[in-house]
Amino acid sequence: MKILLTAASLALCSMSLHAQASKLGDWPQHSRQRPTAPIVHPGPQKAQKATAGAISLFDGTTLDQWSSGEGAPAKWKITDGAMEVVPGTGTLTTKASFGDVHLHIEWMAPKPAEGKDQDRGNSGVFFGGGRYEVQVLDSYENVTYADGQAGAIYGQFPPTKNMALPPGEWQTYDIIYYRPRFDASGKLLKPAKMTVTWNGVDVQDNMELVGPTANGSRPPYEAHADKLPISLQDHGHKVRFRNIWLHELEKSGK
Ligand code: MG
Repeated sequence: MKILLTAASLALCSMSLHAQASKLGDWPQHSRQRPTAPIVHPGPQKAQKATAGAISLFDGTTLDQWSSGEGAPAKWKITDGAMEVVPGTGTLTTKASFGDVHLHIEWMAPKPAEGKDQDRGNSGVFFGGGRYEVQVLDSYENVTYADGQAGAIYGQFPPTKNMALPPGEWQTYDIIYYRPRFDASGKLLKPAKMTVTWNGVDVQDNMELVGPTANGSRPPYEAHADKLPISLQDHGHKVRFRNIWLHELEKSGK
């Protein structure tokens, strides 16, 4: 059987990769022509303390669960029961490592808003040791490219809705992250998957990541450890976080 191959499909090295890539749609990464998510105005979000059985990563009192850089003490500051990015001090990383999780995290963009586009209230929640980012951005009356909005799986999937609250108001993310699966030789068996609920509305529904998230590229998967730290990005903006907790979802054989 003859199959007509396009240049794009020739670039794809396997049927499974082809299937994943097709879910990205036809838009180039970071396209500013790609429609941005429709705006929804959620009501104020209530603080949600760790639920029963959760692992608390930040309860407003200590950064003991976190480190900066190579195991150095966390250099962000605690203010009003929240942790705040101290620009230039670097990413904050959990000391513990995790695989599949349900992570709850609350965040606030700086008020008054400064800058625009990606240079406004930018941070990020990363899984898999810095590989897979759910974007944090002040997306309230702030235009940027669709796959870089708050709630985006950065550089891959825009959120289905823009649930942004104004800067200075607390917002919630509940993220269900399933790590990718690799076989013993390092071959990808299952991609990473994410579901993101932003201010009470699902904006990413069990999306299969096409690889690590990155700016200006979509690198392929590379095998990595099952359990790795979760991290929060220092993008130079004084974004705050609070009520960070998770439930582990790891099951044997999944
Ligand atoms: Mg970011």
